[in-house]
Amino acid sequence: MKTCAALIVAAGSGQRFGGSIPKQYQPLAGISILRRSIMAFLNHPHITSVHVVINPAHRAMYDAAVQGLDLPTPIEGGKTRQESVRNGLLALKESAQPDYVMIHDAARPFIDAKTISAVRQALDTHDGVLAARPVVDTLKRASGDKVSGTVDRSELWQAYTPQSFQFDAIYNAHIKAAASPDIVLTDDAAVAENTGIPVTLVLSNPENMKITNPEDMDRAARLLGQGYNDIRTGMGFDVHRYEPGDAIILGGVRIPHNRKLEGHSDADAVLHALTDALLGGMGLGDIGKFFPPSDPQWKGCDSAVFVRAAVQKLSERGGLISNADITLMCEAPKIGPHRDAMQVRIAELLEIAPERVNVKATTTERLGFTGREEGLAAHAIVTLRFPG
Ligand code: MG
Repeated sequence: MKTCAALIVAAGSGQRFGGSIPKQYQPLAGISILRRSIMAFLNHPHITSVHVVINPAHRAMYDAAVQGLDLPTPIEGGKTRQESVRNGLLALKESAQPDYVMIHDAARPFIDAKTISAVRQALDTHDGVLAARPVVDTLKRASGDKVSGTVDRSELWQAYTPQSFQFDAIYNAHIKAAASPDIVLTDDAAVAENTGIPVTLVLSNPENMKITNPEDMDRAARLLGQGYNDIRTGMGFDVHRYEPGDAIILGGVRIPHNRKLEGHSDADAVLHALTDALLGGMGLGDIGKFFPPSDPQWKGCDSAVFVRAAVQKLSERGGLISNADITLMCEAPKIGPHRDAMQVRIAELLEIAPERVNVKATTTERLGFTGREEGLAAHAIVTLRFPG
């Protein structure tokens, strides 16, 4: 019986996701994406051993994700995916020495046993085997936003993982590829092609998508029959007093004005209200609990820090932001000319599309403290969604 190792590549930093939790460690219906990917191979009768390549900085998250699973010590990844795979193959060469290896992206938790079986079977008669799907949508070539032609898709396939090989062949191919770092090889099949290893296509299950964007989490949860149906609303409100100055900071944008806002940090009332709304929606209290004004480290700080920390807490809880709506109360300055910049900056901090952020302003008809221009107030409301 030939031995077949699974090499799960999980060293990416997943920067398209909010906060500092890389996507492979995000929970999906209560179980991390990485653990789901590992389990698919660990539970398969034709896989002899499972090895995981990680970023050593993620070790604590890794240990938590694989708790109770019987796995060898994780392999240290490199700066690129290709380098991480190479490190994995080098480690396998020293340890398991399998006949075959299946290289799989940690961000594809929906690989099914039937696809793994089909790939494994094909390895008995082929040097390289790629799990893939034929392209079904019509493909257009474009110049800018103008269609310049239709691409014949009859020969086109989408490359998924696992990408699987005779171990020695892909090991040698990766060593060879490392000697020419200027050649960009985006997957292991390309590394194989680069040395002339023939690669055969095997049909993957269609759900074997790569989780890339936060939106994919919603689709993934629906696949598991766990829509993001637990909807929560958070509200935040903040006031800062004016003092003499030359600009105020609102929604992360500097707005020239004949005053500034008084405060311990940069006094960005919009980002403070937004942080409180996020924390409120998660039931976590308020900004003062996490960033007490008595703490000198927040003196003069960019309030983006507070929003990002709240977004990270949300991502740790597997939540998504549906939208944010902000209302400023002030007589001056005029917010209109800065609205778009604020919307874009807030969307960037929340890692959502700008059309999910709304910024509006109102005067209070010269009534009250905002009417007397003693200060400014901001309201924020956010809608958060969690797996139901
Ligand atoms: Mg404040």
